[in-house]
Amino acid sequence: MATLSNATKNALALGSFDTKAELYCFEIARPEVGPNDVAIDIQYCGMCHSDCHACNGDWGLDSWPIAPGHEIAGVVTAIGRSVSKFKVGEKVGVGCMVESCRNCDMCQDGLEQHCPNMIQTYGSAFPKGKGDNMKDAEGNHTNGGYSTAITVNEHFVFHIPEGMDMKYAGILLCAGITTYSPLSRHILQKGGGKGKKVAIVGFGGLGQMAIKLAKAMGVDSVTILSRSDKKKDQASKLGCEYIAYSNEDSVKGAIRSFDVVLDTVSAPHDIASLMPVLKVGGAYVLLGAVGKPFEISAMSLIFNRYAIEGSLIGGVPETQEMLDFCAKHQIVPEYRVIDAKEANQQFKAMMNGESLADRCVIDIATLKNLEVIDSKLENGPAQ
Ligand code: NAP
Ligand code: ZN
Repeated sequence: MATLSNATKNALALGSFDTKAELYCFEIARPEVGPNDVAIDIQYCGMCHSDCHACNGDWGLDSWPIAPGHEIAGVVTAIGRSVSKFKVGEKVGVGCMVESCRNCDMCQDGLEQHCPNMIQTYGSAFPKGKGDNMKDAEGNHTNGGYSTAITVNEHFVFHIPEGMDMKYAGILLCAGITTYSPLSRHILQKGGGKGKKVAIVGFGGLGQMAIKLAKAMGVDSVTILSRSDKKKDQASKLGCEYIAYSNEDSVKGAIRSFDVVLDTVSAPHDIASLMPVLKVGGAYVLLGAVGKPFEISAMSLIFNRYAIEGSLIGGVPETQEMLDFCAKHQIVPEYRVIDAKEANQQFKAMMNGESLADRCVIDIATLKNLEVIDSKLENGPAQ
């Protein structure tokens, strides 16, 4: 059973020590609760493909060890003296951001995700003046929700609506808001779902969420584009159409069908061959955080007035709006709760492109059953 060995280290975490992205249990230090901070005991954390990108070097992070995780659900254990929104014992969530400047135009507009000084829940350098005393213990960056506790400014903490299960609430704070935000822009804010058809490329953690949100927005149909037939039964259980897009003929049958496509694929792929499924004037929204540039012909865009856009999670006000939308429409993601010792298996499945059409959620209480590795080992943990 894992116990904490050092007073400055006050939490257990599951993280990677190098780009092999193998997860080990180690100890980290969480900062003292500042006047505006909320300290949270984490109960569950969803596993997002971004966690793999961060750990396996896809995004160029090279400060180790790093504990990922930004789909956090837990209970408040302490609050700073100026905290007004939260009480001890309350159920709360934390998503992909833990800090921003709060002064720039983006922050003023509730688009904190685009603030130049936005601090991500993991993998961002500590904000100036914060965490300086923690560098030895934690590395020079934030650590995420694959851990037993976290301390976060109340601005970036969310109320979990009454009746929403903690097991899946965290999923909404990344997979939920990332798919809600572009759907809201293209569906809700453009007169609602009536008469509109949505397609989702990639049926993983984001894909399953997008189906549920689009359906709740009242669209005429939702179609999943997946590489093979493997996930067809699950798509029909969720009441959506299905195209195995590696079969070129099935894509041809869907030319000029959709108003908006959300592309959630986590690896480089040929978007030029998928784009013709859009109606003239349709939008192709890239959500997958793929580092390699895509190849696309200007002619395809010009002759069809296609728009290609990206979308990054969502700001604080929109995230709360999304949580309330999910509570109102009783949206429950497809998910599985797993033991911390199964996290490596899910990491590998995601990195190999073999994730199932659901989200794995780590039961954080099971972290204490893992062997603790010394985070100061120079060459990473013993194998
Ligand atoms: P996931 O559960 O692993 O799902 C990704 C899906 O992509 C897979 O289920 C698979 O779908 C498809 N795929 C995987 N490898 C592929 C390959 N080599 N070629 C073609 N298709 C492949 O991942 P996720 O958690 O949903 O995240 C998806 C992406 O969104 C990641 O890149 C993640 O970092 C990013 N993300 C972005 C934001 C944002 O703000 N923009 C937020 C969160 C996550 P099929 O089996 O159905 O083909
Ligand atoms: Zn994520």
